Amino acid sequence: MLDKERKQAQFPQLEMSHLLYGDKEGFDNFIERQTFFDNHPLFKVDQNFFNKSRQDQILINAQKTIEAAKNLDLANKKYYTPNVLCPQGNFISTVHFAMVIPAFQVLASDDQIKRWMPSLKDFNAFGCYAQSELGHGSDVQNILTVATLDKTTSEFIIHTPNVEATKFWPGELGLYCEFALVFAQLIVDGKNHGVHPFWVRIRDKDTHRPMEGVQLGDIGPKMGYAVKDNGYLSFDHFRAPLDSLLNRYIKVSSDGKVERQGNPKVGYASMLYMRNILCDQYTKFAGKALTIAVRYSLYRRQFKDDNKQEILILDYQCQQQKLFPLLAEFYACIFGSIKIKEIVNENFNRITQYNDFSTLNLTHSILSAAKSNYTYFVANCAEWCRLSCGGHGFAHYSGLPTIFFEMSPNIVLEGENTILNLQLARYLLKQLQNTVSKPESVPSYFQFLSSDTVKIQDVTTIESLAALLGCNCSILTKYAASKFMAHSDLQDSWDTKSGIALAKAASTFIPYFNMICFIDTIQNKAKDTKEILTVLAQVYGITMLLNNSQGLLLKNQISSEQIRLLQDTREQLYPIIRRNALCLVEAQGLSENTLQSLIAPKDGNVYENMYNYASQDNSLNKQKVHEGITYIKKMKEVNAKL
Ligand SMILES: Cc1cc2nc3c(=O)[nH]c(=O)nc-3n(C[C@H](O)[C@H](O)[C@H](O)COP(=O)(O)OP(=O)(O)OC[C@H]3O[C@@H](n4cnc5c(N)ncnc54)[C@H](O)[C@@H]3O)c2cc1C
Repeated sequence: MLDKERKQAQFPQLEMSHLLYGDKEGFDNFIERQTFFDNHPLFKVDQNFFNKSRQDQILINAQKTIEAAKNLDLANKKYYTPNVLCPQGNFISTVHFAMVIPAFQVLASDDQIKRWMPSLKDFNAFGCYAQSELGHGSDVQNILTVATLDKTTSEFIIHTPNVEATKFWPGELGLYCEFALVFAQLIVDGKNHGVHPFWVRIRDKDTHRPMEGVQLGDIGPKMGYAVKDNGYLSFDHFRAPLDSLLNRYIKVSSDGKVERQGNPKVGYASMLYMRNILCDQYTKFAGKALTIAVRYSLYRRQFKDDNKQEILILDYQCQQQKLFPLLAEFYACIFGSIKIKEIVNENFNRITQYNDFSTLNLTHSILSAAKSNYTYFVANCAEWCRLSCGGHGFAHYSGLPTIFFEMSPNIVLEGENTILNLQLARYLLKQLQNTVSKPESVPSYFQFLSSDTVKIQDVTTIESLAALLGCNCSILTKYAASKFMAHSDLQDSWDTKSGIALAKAASTFIPYFNMICFIDTIQNKAKDTKEILTVLAQVYGITMLLNNSQGLLLKNQISSEQIRLLQDTREQLYPIIRRNALCLVEAQGLSENTLQSLIAPKDGNVYENMYNYASQDNSLNKQKVHEGITYIKKMKEVNAKL
């Protein structure tokens, strides 16, 4: 049955695969690494993984990490997608490779990099990123851990002054890492020089016990995310050598001289790396959820038509309405993320090679907004895919609950999404001002702010949709600016009077940005996929406008007839997507082992899969009479006495 679906697709799947992974090389790299996971017995999906205790899950993934490290170059960025997408649950080393090493690359001096990088890469110096505290996560500037220079011994004394200052949440801290990159207020001669990173050993090399003056452990179970040992860490006047301070941009001499060099905003540069990974790699989990949901919807039939034939659930318009806008948004986010990766890499090269910070603000702002938008999208997409699979979506064997659990923390970590949106709002206001005072300085991505009117013939073309999305954001930015400026105390206005308007305006930027990246891909990269991509881009643009066109409505830039036309057009496009849906998700090239789902095989019988698992493999059934029955028998006695 699925082969019939595959044959009716109207585009070359391989061309689409190359577009989704950036190019042929990107796709080939993915398939090469996926093949390793598919063929290795340790990485074969085990549906009983979720019947195991957290302790066992952690041990299994530690074993997997070592096996992966033996066979694969885990620090190699080009393989990051399969590394996060293929194995069941996280590797033990994701924070180390995705946060600690990049932070070192940006913040450590050449000498420090020379000294530490080999052991960081081969795992001999396994570290966590210890920034957040119990009392402060988003507000990094006000964390309470202190690192005070002791001139008599040329050491820093790292100290946790109270419970609130305990480091809390760092991944890989709870059980495993030997080192921590500790962010603390630097105090020299009684003067606070702000928050800086210190690289310190926190567990003994031989015994793995905490070092003297260090208390640490795992923080306990969370919503999913079971194999990650998020931890707590506190210091009691812990002594660290002078060169524990990563000192590319700040130097402290043993006699207390503090010298700063470069841009103080450099701290952002390492965060950019992880946020980029969240946009670039983790967005692909939405594609995994969509593959499961679309395939399952092509197996599942409910109710009969007039010819007494049972109807495929993907043929219901309401099911299409659940999945197709998400599919279009997935493509939009992927093309947006490819552009963002280019922007981030260019900025990273400018900083590290030429000490040039001129594109840092632009990069930081776009990336903040994208991280916020994409991580909301992925969690939302996983949840809707789950719902679209009815009861079976609720079971771990569908592969869907775990995607939601593993992806939803991304909304909060590495910059909480509302706060990131507000950071873009600040940048939008600045560029809005520049459109009047310094128009030549406004980056091309923000030139839409110079106009709050739009003239179009046909609202349904991709170019018109991009213009409308830009105009919507521009009007909402002006509205937010006027709310913000209406009060004399600007800080109070920002915090308590205009936050909603500012966050709203910012949340409409990425739909515009994604749309122009989508159009760029269609016009400059696609060949025989242009037509179907144009349909997806239309569905994406229309959906974004139907979700939020408040700005356009405020200034009468869109009429109720046009909104109706958008709605009708989207519905008319669904049959085209329906015909191509299977190949649109399969263009990602995800194997069954990667999908980890019994309800979405490439071919086969989903009901037999589920039945065989329940009746033969489910480890809870192995004990023919479960030990819990002794308690149930007691319950009968209790009830008898009542
Ligand atoms: C799974 C997971 C892994 C993590 N890993 C690490 C790690 O490896 N290392 C590490 O250092 N940390 C880590 N963290 C911590 C994480 O970075 C913080 O939790 C995150 O930055 C959010 O900060 P917070 O908890 O202080 O949230 P808060 O800032 O307290 O947010 C709570 C609410 O207040 C709102 N709010 C706060 N300030 C404002 C404002 N100015 N304007 C409007 N609204 C506001 C937020 O929008 C949110 O709704 C991890 C967290 C999780 C969940």
